[in-house]
Amino acid sequence: MAGLYLHIPFCKQACHYCNFHFSTSLRSQNELVEALLLELELQKDYLQRQPLLTIYLGGGTPSLLPGETISTLLSNIKQRHWYDTEAEITLEANPDDITEENCQAWQAAGINRLSIGIQSFSDKELRWMNRAHTAAQSLQGLQIAKQFFDNISIDLIYGLPEQDNTAWEVNVAQALALQLPHLSCYALTVEPKTLLEKKIRNKQYSPVDPEKQSEQFMLLMQWMEQAGYRHYEISNFALPTKESRHNSVYWQGAHYLGIGPSAHSYNGYSRQWNVSNNALYIQSLQQGLLPAETEVLTPVQQRNEYIMTAIRTDQGIELKKLGTDLARVEKTAARYIETGQVLINAERLWLSKEGKLLADGIAAALFANEDE
Ligand code: SF4
Repeated sequence: MAGLYLHIPFCKQACHYCNFHFSTSLRSQNELVEALLLELELQKDYLQRQPLLTIYLGGGTPSLLPGETISTLLSNIKQRHWYDTEAEITLEANPDDITEENCQAWQAAGINRLSIGIQSFSDKELRWMNRAHTAAQSLQGLQIAKQFFDNISIDLIYGLPEQDNTAWEVNVAQALALQLPHLSCYALTVEPKTLLEKKIRNKQYSPVDPEKQSEQFMLLMQWMEQAGYRHYEISNFALPTKESRHNSVYWQGAHYLGIGPSAHSYNGYSRQWNVSNNALYIQSLQQGLLPAETEVLTPVQQRNEYIMTAIRTDQGIELKKLGTDLARVEKTAARYIETGQVLINAERLWLSKEGKLLADGIAAALFANEDE
C-alpha cells in the first residue's frame, strides 16, 4: 500500500502560528498547477506501481482551488498511478470555502473525505490566531459538509495562552455535539519566524504555558474516551473504522509520494523533499528538473524513524520489528516502565496516558546511535 500527498501552497491570509509553506498571493496559481502536473508525470514510477490507498490534498488551503482544477489533478493522478478504487481521497478545506456548489464539485471530482480547519469555535480565539473565518461560518460550513460527506475530520487547537480549561471544554463539547467521526487536536506550538513568536517576544501576547497544555491534553483524552473515540495517535481520535488511512500510511512506515513545493516523499530507503519556494518549484519543473533533495537512510535512521512514528500510535512499537536492537530498547525503556509512562507485553511496547505527554522525549531516549 502507498499514499500520495499533494501540497497546494496558497492561503487567504497567514494564521499567526503557522509555519507551513504557503503564499497569500494567488497570482502564480495556474503555473503552479501546471508544475504539479509536470511533477506527477516525472514521478510516476516513484511508488513502483504500488496501489494508492490514499490521496491527500493538503496545504496551504486546497479548498481555494476551483473545483475543475481539483478534478484535473485527481484524474491525472488516476491516469498515472495504480489506484485502489476504494482509496480514501481527502481534501483539506477551510470553513469559509464550504458551499453546496463546492461540495458538489469536490464530490464529482472524487473527494470522499474532508479535513476541515476549524481550530476553534470561539470568535475571540479565531481572531487571536488570525484565522480567515468566524465561528458562525464554521458551523454553517460543517452543516453543509455533512449533507455531502460522511467522512469528516476537524482540527482543533488547544493551549492558547488566554484559553482556560472551560473554554477548551466548550470547543470539544461543540465538536462532540456535531457527532463528527474524526478529530485532530494539536497543542499550540510557537514556531520560529512566525508572527506568533514575534508577538510573544514583543510581549504583545502572553507566552504559552506547557503545564496548562498538558492539563488540557489530559482532559481531552478523558472526554474523548467517554465519548467512545479511539485515541489511535497522539493528536488523533476516531470513531470505529473512521481512522485516517492517510495518516496511517505515515505511521506504519508505508511508502508515500509528495507532490508540490515543500512536499516530502519516502520509498523505504530514502527520503526526498521538494524546495519550499513556489517560483523555484515552477521554474525547475518547467525545465524538466525535479526540485528535490534526497537523503538515503541508514539502517539506524530507518529504525529510529520507526520508533518515532510507531510510539505515537496506540498500537505502539512491535517488538519483533526491533530485531537485534530489542534488548537495548527494553533496557532503556525499563525506567519509563517503572514510572508507568511506558507499558509492555510480549508483542509490543506503547505509551500510557502520562507517557503520551512526553512522547517525543521517550522516543528520543529509545533511539539507537550510529556508532552503537
Ligand atoms: S490556513 Fe492553514 S496553512 Fe494557511 S496559514 Fe492558516 S494554518 Fe497555515
